[in-house]
Amino acid sequence: MSVRSLDALPRQRLAELGQRVIEGGSVSREEAAFLFQLNQPADIFDLLSWANRIREHFKGNKVHLCSIVNAKAGGCSENCSFCSQSSFYQTGSPKYGFIDPEPVQNAAEEAQRHGVTAVGLVAAWKGLQEGPMLDEVCDRIREMAQSGKARPDASLGIIKSPRVAERLKEAGLECYGHNLESSRRFFPKHCTTHTFEDRLQTIQHLKSAGIKICSGGIIGMGETWEDRLDMAFTLREIGANVVPVNILNPIPGTPFENVTPLPPMEILQTIACFRFILPRQEIMVAGGRTVNLRDLQSMVFLAGASALMVGNYLTTLNQPIEKDLQMLRDLGLDPDWDNHGFADQSAPIGSCPPAAAREPAVV
Ligand code: SF4
Repeated sequence: MSVRSLDALPRQRLAELGQRVIEGGSVSREEAAFLFQLNQPADIFDLLSWANRIREHFKGNKVHLCSIVNAKAGGCSENCSFCSQSSFYQTGSPKYGFIDPEPVQNAAEEAQRHGVTAVGLVAAWKGLQEGPMLDEVCDRIREMAQSGKARPDASLGIIKSPRVAERLKEAGLECYGHNLESSRRFFPKHCTTHTFEDRLQTIQHLKSAGIKICSGGIIGMGETWEDRLDMAFTLREIGANVVPVNILNPIPGTPFENVTPLPPMEILQTIACFRFILPRQEIMVAGGRTVNLRDLQSMVFLAGASALMVGNYLTTLNQPIEKDLQMLRDLGLDPDWDNHGFADQSAPIGSCPPAAAREPAVV
């Protein structure tokens, strides 16, 4: 067999899988493993090209944009090894309690000025339970919803009671961010103060309350490609609608401060694999984008991403929003601030249950 005919095999298999996904089919774990294991540059570019076609088929030229505000910073009781807000580590990250109405309204006004339709309230704490803090959180959500300036989203940690999720829904919350962060297998390597199951249960309560789910994770923590594959399939099973892909930005003072950064092409390959596995979801490139991808940032769309976290992240800086908007214009893509196309995601993906929920990214 000639070298040329050997090269044709991955190309042909990629074309078969890509076409199947575009026609509404799904990839199996074994097929996804093939995608993650591609290691020749020509094959990886072929993978990106098919991921781009899948994105274009399901999302057109729209790119969803999200923004967040740090509603309670630092001093978190949890020990997530990537996080500068954990009280376990000395990072110099800011600390303050849950914010008053005024900064929330300011964030909503700023969002409105930039054409952003949703602002996610993100809090650095273990989770939310019934009591005065839940009342205050619901007040902030209700105030933002009533102002009409921005749709309130939130990422407020673990929820153990269905009633808490219902209260958030009643206050006007549409979408909740709760990342799985990694695979079930890798999770204990970055967090031991709560479990992967705690996170899945939170998502279940939110879905039962009718709240959309934004859930993804962080790559580049030392996990294997099998961990990334497992996380993507779990996200497919739980019906996440928005899937944030964060890339570790090692923060001095955290246990992951010396983790070797992922090569940019590996990041793009991972995004492309996610697009094959999660063809209708919003795949959102979030924290760590600028520092890890550098000049390759605009290639995330070629790799199948359909959404961007814009504005600053929780504790690290992003590039200015104007620069992101210019990047989209240069690529012929349209910013879409409206919604995440939840309705379009309701069709079943292959043999998976219908998408119904999701959550935003916390880094
Ligand atoms: S990721 Fe969230 S739960 Fe974990 S330490 Fe940071 S703020 Fe706390």
